[in-house]
Amino acid sequence: MRSNLKVNIDTVELKQGARLVVKIGTAVITNNKSAVCDRIINTLASQISTLQREGFKVIIVSSGAIAAGVHRMGWKQKPKKISHLQAAAAVGQVSLVETYEKEFKKNGLTTAQVLITGEDFSSRKRYLNSRATFETLLNENILVIVNENDTVSTEEIKVGDNDTLAASIATAVQADLFVILTDQKGLFTENPTSSSKAELIQSVDVDDEMLSRVVSKSHSEFGTGGMETKIKAAKIVARLGIDTIIASGFEV
Ligand code: GLU
Repeated sequence: MRSNLKVNIDTVELKQGARLVVKIGTAVITNNKSAVCDRIINTLASQISTLQREGFKVIIVSSGAIAAGVHRMGWKQKPKKISHLQAAAAVGQVSLVETYEKEFKKNGLTTAQVLITGEDFSSRKRYLNSRATFETLLNENILVIVNENDTVSTEEIKVGDNDTLAASIATAVQADLFVILTDQKGLFTENPTSSSKAELIQSVDVDDEMLSRVVSKSHSEFGTGGMETKIKAAKIVARLGIDTIIASGFEV
């Protein structure tokens, strides 16, 4: 697994037509202030559109629905009750995809929304159906934006965090590269918010046992998994030989 590489084809060796799954965390697109940040999505959309124009195929897995919904409903903080979280996701998902659609349209790209639950991976029929849909959308050069279908996901069927969801998508579409954009610069040897000795890890093998020491559960109010789920996600895609990049979503 490599870290701290940007979403920039000059820094990574990718074959022509390579597929990238890019997971964008809540803390990146809401800048931790809850509302969807147009400026950040504008920057990401222009970078991703450049990749798409150069012949790469990008699928976005974006979090942020719950945070955006909480903001839109005027709630002061993230609720605990499941039905409230699901209601927030229903409201916020609209703002989220509306912003992506608006920003990608400026770059000449059409977007599609795909909402998924864990059942879509465990039922073979649903898995094959959704995979065929992804193939069609990719072939048509549509920018697909995926999120968990939080509104209907109960404990039994939910994937639970978008790092894992994105890893499953990367596996299903046989991606060439998995990119996780976060509010951190990448993976650190220690928690950088509490230790001044923390060093950015440039490159590490997913099976390196040092990873168990660097895992920090600290995360923002709205994000779900912290570094732990990101490393787990990297291990899922590594089984197919897919590299993962964990990088800052704020660096251009
Ligand atoms: N699906 C959740 C949302 O859109 C995010 C889950 C996650 O951050 O992993 O708010």
